[in-house]
Amino acid sequence: MSIFTKIINGEIPSYKIAENEDFFVFLDINPNAAGHTLVVPKKEVDQLFDLGDELYLKLFQYSKTVAAAIKKAVPCKRVGLSVIGLEVPHVHVHLIPLNQMADATFGKKEKLTEVEFIALAEKIASFL
Ligand code: AMP
Repeated sequence: MSIFTKIINGEIPSYKIAENEDFFVFLDINPNAAGHTLVVPKKEVDQLFDLGDELYLKLFQYSKTVAAAIKKAVPCKRVGLSVIGLEVPHVHVHLIPLNQMADATFGKKEKLTEVEFIALAEKIASFL
């Protein structure tokens, strides 16, 4: 079972933003930038391109919706999207508020307090 399935099942806490039948959305715990969000299919599949077509398309449709909420909630030039998966073998879309190229690189990390994480998750959720 992946760490993200444990989060989806409520066995591990997360800064949850939203969930629906197919997806669970929460803040990345080690963000490139404030507001860095993960959109995760509840179905545990390792690699993006192994998703069935229907779920694959729904993932990007829903990521667009979540990105629009991030754009309203977090000051940024644009919201970037990455799919990596080298650390957690459970499909997830990274949605990252970008102000500079470094925000798109996974070497740069932002330290946030618990209060800041909670406020960000609530603010993004308020625009969904
Ligand atoms: P990758 O699999 O390379 O796309 O990276 C996995 C991402 O998941 C990283 O950005 C981690 O910071 C993030 N991550 C790992 N564990 C957790 C967790 N428990 N809660 C939130 N984000 C996590």
